[in-house]
Amino acid sequence: MKIHEYQAKELFRSFGVPVPDGGVAFSVDEAVDAAKGLGGYPVVVKAQIHAGGRGKGGGVKLAASEAEARTFADEILGMTLVTHQTGPEGRLVKKLLVEAGQEIAKEFYLSILVDRATAGIVIMASQEGGMDIEEVAATTPEKIIKVRVDPLTGIQGYHLREVGFGLGLPKAALKEFSALLKNLYTLFVKNDCSLLEINPLILTKDDRVMALDAKVDIDSNAMFRHKDLLEYRDLDEEDPLEVEASKYNLNYINLDGNVGNIVNGAGLAMATMDIIKNAGAEPANFMDVGGGATAEMVENAFRIILMDEKVKAVLINIFGGILRCDVFAEGVVAAAQKTGITIPVVVRMEGTNVEKGKKILAESGLNLINAVDLKDAAEKVAAAI
Ligand code: GDP
Ligand code: MN
Repeated sequence: MKIHEYQAKELFRSFGVPVPDGGVAFSVDEAVDAAKGLGGYPVVVKAQIHAGGRGKGGGVKLAASEAEARTFADEILGMTLVTHQTGPEGRLVKKLLVEAGQEIAKEFYLSILVDRATAGIVIMASQEGGMDIEEVAATTPEKIIKVRVDPLTGIQGYHLREVGFGLGLPKAALKEFSALLKNLYTLFVKNDCSLLEINPLILTKDDRVMALDAKVDIDSNAMFRHKDLLEYRDLDEEDPLEVEASKYNLNYINLDGNVGNIVNGAGLAMATMDIIKNAGAEPANFMDVGGGATAEMVENAFRIILMDEKVKAVLINIFGGILRCDVFAEGVVAAAQKTGITIPVVVRMEGTNVEKGKKILAESGLNLINAVDLKDAAEKVAAAI
């Protein structure tokens, strides 16, 4: 789950990670009020969307006066902000963060992430802060420091020193930086984060360190033990079909192609996407209704896929184990009767109660294309497209 910068900074504050003073605003007047409350100018007016690269896209502006704060707030609120992370369609800005402007002596990059290769946690840092870190990694990888931490023993003094010295921080800032990094690590672990990124982390003229930007991703699989963080979820920032699917516990991810898929089991869904591509078509989504899906879940899965306008054909690939084929077929028929199908639907079904399932589909009067196996199904759906 992604959260906004202002929410991430709220978390930072509560874990003792220094951030500038600031407040969130949902209107221009609120932004001006927030600016006034900061006790001086410049202030920074920042678009709050779930994507980075806002500065380059015109979503972060330094205002030298109240009048400028008003102008920038007015410009940024309601704009469709396009950055390298939003895609060309951009993202509508509905809220702002207004912060006390800082005098920057130097910008750094600092992040903590789960490293699957070492089954541990890795701290990444660089003196090349404020820039696109992917670019730094691609062109000058030696400028990125990586320090691995064993999650069982946790962060130690030597980890903190390795990063602090590696960044070439002045002596006067090292103690504060060590405290910051230690607190950041605690925040990461306590909240089951998958990524925590500060770009830039700044050194001020008086040798203080502070998080000027904040990105926090929380592992969605761990949300059950972070009910307090659920209030941070912003449905406006999520794909509407994915939000709808999450209501029914469907594992659904929207993709770019035009073949809608309904599959039971993540492995089978991956294999189905591969075989669709092999047949020369492109999957429009990943939809795993799960091993133990009910007819109602199947019905919702089908309905959600049909809501997607780019879907020009549907491939249903079911291996009936715990999910019996007859239960599945009932779900498909119910959804089709409610929504009405106007596009080709290819069905490949095997496993428990397959004959019963096929009978339900055959007697439903629905115009379905039957496939004998996976390869046949993929070819038929590609041909239908
Ligand atoms: P991003 O572009 O989405 O990553 O947004 P950031 O929060 O990183 O802001 C973009 C850039 O704005 C930063 O890299 C800074 O250079 C600049 N910036 C943000 N806040 C301040 C500030 O308080 N003072 C100054 N001088 N620059 C700032
Ligand atoms: Mn940034």
